[in-house]
Amino acid sequence: MTQFLDTDIKFLKGVGESRSKVLASELGIATFRDLLYYFPYRHIDRSRFYSIGELQGSDLPALQIKGRFVSFTVEGEGARQRLIGIFTDGRRMMETVWFSRIKTFSTAYKPGVEYVIFGKPNFFRNAYSIAHPEVEEYDPAKPPTGFRGVYSLTETMRKKGYSTRLLQTLVANVISHKGFSTLPEILPEEVVARYNLMPLKEALRQMHFPDNAQKLQKATERMKFEELFYVEAHILRYSMERGSKNPGYVFSKIGEKFNGFYYNVLPFQLTGAQKRVLKEIRADMKTGRQMNRLLQGDVGSGKTMVAFMSMLMAVDNGCQAAMMAPTEILAQQHYASIKQWAEPIGVRVALLTGSTRAAARREIHEGLQSGDIDIIVGTHALIEDNVRFNLLGLTVIDEQHRFGVAQRGKLWHKDERVPHVLVMTATPIPRTLAMTVYGDLDVSVIDELPPGRKPITTLLRYDSNRLEVDRLIYSQLREGRQIYIVYPLISENEKLELKSLEEGYRRTCDTFHGYRVCFVHGKMKPEAKDYQMNLFVKGEARIMVATTVIEVGVNVPNASVMIIENAERFGLSQLHQLRGRVGRGADQSYCVLMGKVKSGADTKKRLSIMTETTDGFLISEADMKIRGPGDMEGTQQSGIAFNLKVADLTKDGQILTRAREAALAVLRGTPSLLAPGCSATLPGPGDPAPIIVRRETVPVLAGELRLRFSKTVDWSQIS
Ligand code: ADP
Ligand code: MG
Repeated sequence: MTQFLDTDIKFLKGVGESRSKVLASELGIATFRDLLYYFPYRHIDRSRFYSIGELQGSDLPALQIKGRFVSFTVEGEGARQRLIGIFTDGRRMMETVWFSRIKTFSTAYKPGVEYVIFGKPNFFRNAYSIAHPEVEEYDPAKPPTGFRGVYSLTETMRKKGYSTRLLQTLVANVISHKGFSTLPEILPEEVVARYNLMPLKEALRQMHFPDNAQKLQKATERMKFEELFYVEAHILRYSMERGSKNPGYVFSKIGEKFNGFYYNVLPFQLTGAQKRVLKEIRADMKTGRQMNRLLQGDVGSGKTMVAFMSMLMAVDNGCQAAMMAPTEILAQQHYASIKQWAEPIGVRVALLTGSTRAAARREIHEGLQSGDIDIIVGTHALIEDNVRFNLLGLTVIDEQHRFGVAQRGKLWHKDERVPHVLVMTATPIPRTLAMTVYGDLDVSVIDELPPGRKPITTLLRYDSNRLEVDRLIYSQLREGRQIYIVYPLISENEKLELKSLEEGYRRTCDTFHGYRVCFVHGKMKPEAKDYQMNLFVKGEARIMVATTVIEVGVNVPNASVMIIENAERFGLSQLHQLRGRVGRGADQSYCVLMGKVKSGADTKKRLSIMTETTDGFLISEADMKIRGPGDMEGTQQSGIAFNLKVADLTKDGQILTRAREAALAVLRGTPSLLAPGCSATLPGPGDPAPIIVRRETVPVLAGELRLRFSKTVDWSQIS
């Protein structure tokens, strides 16, 4: 049935042995299927003449318009000089633009002569224009040549004489092959109908040889849907299978510790978002399905409290809980807060880190094994082999991207039941990315800050503003506050950067004479680093000069100024993280981004986003649009999000949502797609009516899943 698609490309008319080798080595096209799914990267529309008035949308293919030039004028100076030609189709006018060979073009076309211009219309300031159009005199005897795809080819192929034309011919040969007409639909018919998708054969044809722009759009949408449907089906299937294999502890009751804390100790009112998230966690942990939840919340949104109260649910149900932080200082800070909250209600807490002394360590190991310790806070020391729990029911991991997937799994032993897992991150990632990269984690969001926080004032400044910036630092120091000054340190140019950090340190000591300055960077020994960090935490040092090592989690409420040098070198999410180090107290805080005067418009735009919003989700959306999903922090483990061929996570969020819903509906209705004995009762996003796939379609779906994902890393099995 799929044999046609699997046919070796060498058997295609027009290919043969030698071309098949080139296609395989240059483009990875080995079968008919590969060729059909090798989509054009753009299209040209020479099927007819368009009128200016009918142009619509922002992503038009290159197309042709018939008409006359009205005038030519030169605008701008020097390197920005350009030639503007006004072109009319007889009813409306549009601009054509040339940036080079201005002299030649300004006299090349005669008024009154009918021309055909061809190019991709750009939509800008409410009007269309075409840059460097191809221009030909109109020849009524020349027929339109159609709407075609343009394929990307390698340099080697071009040298050997391969062209878009040849690829068009080859694709046409597959499509006209008699086998093509028997091609089965690879999405369930029910999905095609419910989501009003273009059927496969039609979509493949339209992708390569569209009849018109609307059909091309429908076809593209269908191919994106198909791609995302399989990604989501793959992720959800794993999640369901894992859920069935690893039953979770059932925390059936809310007990006296939780209530005692809530009514008598809790020092403030929970925010609405904290309450909602606690309910989501509670709902998970009472089902018997092992929880894997990602808790996203901006810096300062109060994740620690949510974590602590979740741990109380474990303790109330006779289990222990562990909280793992990426650094010693963070672990200490968590321990200090948690101890203070836990003691009044008689919950026993301990701290285990690399610097815990041998005797204390032994005692803690015993306490964990016997169950005397209810809650353990710590660093990587928690995942050492000799750490054994009496009954570990919940693991909280703070700042997830500092821990590898494998490390998380080490928190419990193979022979034990997998505890519930709550992963907390302050780097919000866009929902579309979360659904794909962390597809099998449920996501909770704290999207509300505790009341009374003053928004941080963010300023973009340049070297010429040094004095003003120094004055700001001075005035804050005089009010008793603390200051961070951060330098980029990225491995490529380490020596140079370390030098700039050292210079910055010296300059700071000189300028702010009389205030103690501490100094931290990633290449220091951990003990030296902790020592310096502690100076700042305790308030002995008033200024910290550092690289991004301070990015994660450190809480010094007295710090009110964050200066970021060479801000253009940081990603937006990183800037957001750094900024989150201040604004933790009740007073006004400042973040100053030191930019380069000469940086490009893109950089300025990027940095100005930071001055406009403090909403971590908006920032991460913007970051993803600028950098693309592959470069986002915390996503490196997953191959899935970036191997997408047609879909684009920055643009196709809506298609993704529908595709995920469809995948969930299909798995719910067709448990035979899961491994034997696994159940499809996964609480999912929305609750689509199950789709029961016809028996003969099941192997098709299973085959597609195997084909598409047999090679990807199975990172999703984190437990
Ligand atoms: P993060 O989400 O960045 O880890 P924290 O948990 O460190 O944030 O909380 C930041 C500060 O806000 C802490 O001092 C914490 O005690 C406080 N806090 C948390 N929740 C609330 C609340 N509902 N009302 C007032 N303060 C809160
Ligand atoms: Mg935190």
